[in-house]
Amino acid sequence: MFTILHANDMHSNLIGVGPSSDYTPMSLNDDATKGGYSRLAALIAQRRQEMGQLGPVLVLDAGDFSMGTAIAAATRELGAELQLMARMGCEATTFGNHDFDLGPDGLGSAIGKAAASGVVPTIVASNTDVSANEPRLAALKQLVQKQVIRPYTVITRGGLRFGIMGLIGYDASKYTVDPGGAVFADPIETAKTTANLLRNQESVDVVIALSHGGVMKGDDGQFKGEDVNLLQAVPEIDIVIGGHTHTALTQPLLVNGRPAVQAGKYSENLGELKISLSGGKVKVESYRLIPVEDNIKGDRTVQQEVDRFSKEASQIAFASRGYSITQPLAVISEDWPMKYSDLESGTPLANLVTDAFRKMENADIAFTANGVIRAGLTKGNSGIQTVYDVFALAPLGNGIVDPTAGSAMVKAYLTGRELKSLLEFFLIDDPHHPGEFWARVSGMRLYYDPSRPKFNQITAIELGELDKGYSPIDFSESATRLYSFTCSLYVGLVIVALPRLSKGAVQLVPKKADGTPIKHRTDAIADPRESTGALVLPGSGSMEHEIAVTSAAKKEVKEWQAIMDYLVSLPNKNADGISILEKDDRAKEVRVIQAGS
Ligand SMILES: [Zn+2]
Repeated sequence: MFTILHANDMHSNLIGVGPSSDYTPMSLNDDATKGGYSRLAALIAQRRQEMGQLGPVLVLDAGDFSMGTAIAAATRELGAELQLMARMGCEATTFGNHDFDLGPDGLGSAIGKAAASGVVPTIVASNTDVSANEPRLAALKQLVQKQVIRPYTVITRGGLRFGIMGLIGYDASKYTVDPGGAVFADPIETAKTTANLLRNQESVDVVIALSHGGVMKGDDGQFKGEDVNLLQAVPEIDIVIGGHTHTALTQPLLVNGRPAVQAGKYSENLGELKISLSGGKVKVESYRLIPVEDNIKGDRTVQQEVDRFSKEASQIAFASRGYSITQPLAVISEDWPMKYSDLESGTPLANLVTDAFRKMENADIAFTANGVIRAGLTKGNSGIQTVYDVFALAPLGNGIVDPTAGSAMVKAYLTGRELKSLLEFFLIDDPHHPGEFWARVSGMRLYYDPSRPKFNQITAIELGELDKGYSPIDFSESATRLYSFTCSLYVGLVIVALPRLSKGAVQLVPKKADGTPIKHRTDAIADPRESTGALVLPGSGSMEHEIAVTSAAKKEVKEWQAIMDYLVSLPNKNADGISILEKDDRAKEVRVIQAGS
């Protein structure tokens, strides 16, 4: 008998999910936040103790350990995620797509910091090759030499030999933002070779794959996807610990008795898989997800570390723009959700975000895609939303001239026809990522008819806003008026690549105010999906400095900063002087309107 405790897609959620000011891991039953590393650490210790009486216990993670919170904003400088995972007992993890968001150099720096602290899980990266002759891979190469990163690892415990491989799946490797020379081999082919090696050369008793591949529920209600395919294709694998799709599986998916499991996301659950072995075959004895909630008292030492990292991240990422991580920005009286597949409930938050962009950049039109708004706002007990909470809305991307965390805002000029062309692209849904591409706008509204052919669904676009009224935008071929258009660099890199991504269906040339083209590097997107792609992600290219929107201080404006500045500027304040954020008519306004509705 042995037990695997597992997590995945923790995405730097060192603090419980919910409003961060509610999170009190050292006092019980007074908040509804979920997750948090000190609680998870305490739970792991407790389960280890109990299950350890039955046999060996392994603690494993399936990748995407970084990117997403305000503490991740300083992941390169602190390496906090991996240090704390090791402290809570995690023995091995693997790479997820988002772990490359800051490039292989950023990732190498984060792992290097954790390794230098003396505690780091083994990073098992069976199908990630960092041997290319590319300077940005130097730090990762060094970590391979030090065996912090390995093609596989073997853990001997309680008389059993466990062979562990780590795979980044097809979808995840395809949408890795900035691999910068790292090459991902076919996960299934790699798994076959590695499993064979583990069985025959390393003589392991159990083969475990950490798979950043995942599963999704099909129309028939059955879970399917890469982690199940892996078990089917590679019979030598006994157990798949999955990730990437953020799926909370309440029971294992079995292929001939061999399980694939996944524990959701953000440290909200710990998976506990109890396995017996007979005649070399695994059998699931029991499985459950244990919610990480306020009935678990946090581990004091881990919480002290979380507090220390939080303070350091505040200095590194936010101080230059006058913010601190625990600073309250607004108070809400109800949740402002962001579930991509529910466009209606996400509209108020999307309007807030795009209104903030437009105000900051003084543009005619502000734009983002639904899936780039990475979190909602949760009321919790106090309703207070801090810098930590608001950063989670816009954690993605990099600067152009400023290396601190977060996407820079960019601005360009487009004709009405070009505007229509790009908006058409974002009306096309990807069934694998429902709602993630949906256009979110400020300063305009559009009407579309989904019964018309793709790239020809928009029937009208109007410039204006709710209080001042709207007037039509001429998008005929002969119309020459230019409209100023702002979005995050992250989204901007997708937009400049649309002509190629859409195989010519989208035509646009981002321009300066005088109509001359903006020069940019567009050789970034390698392999788009058939329809629109998940996050159609740029490679390492970046736009030229001239299009960075600069504030008076000649600093880039960060996407998160635009949102925070907007919240602070709201006129209604409570008794403590904190902005009151309310779902008024402007918040509820539908700006992408289905014709006839
Ligand atoms: Zn992922």
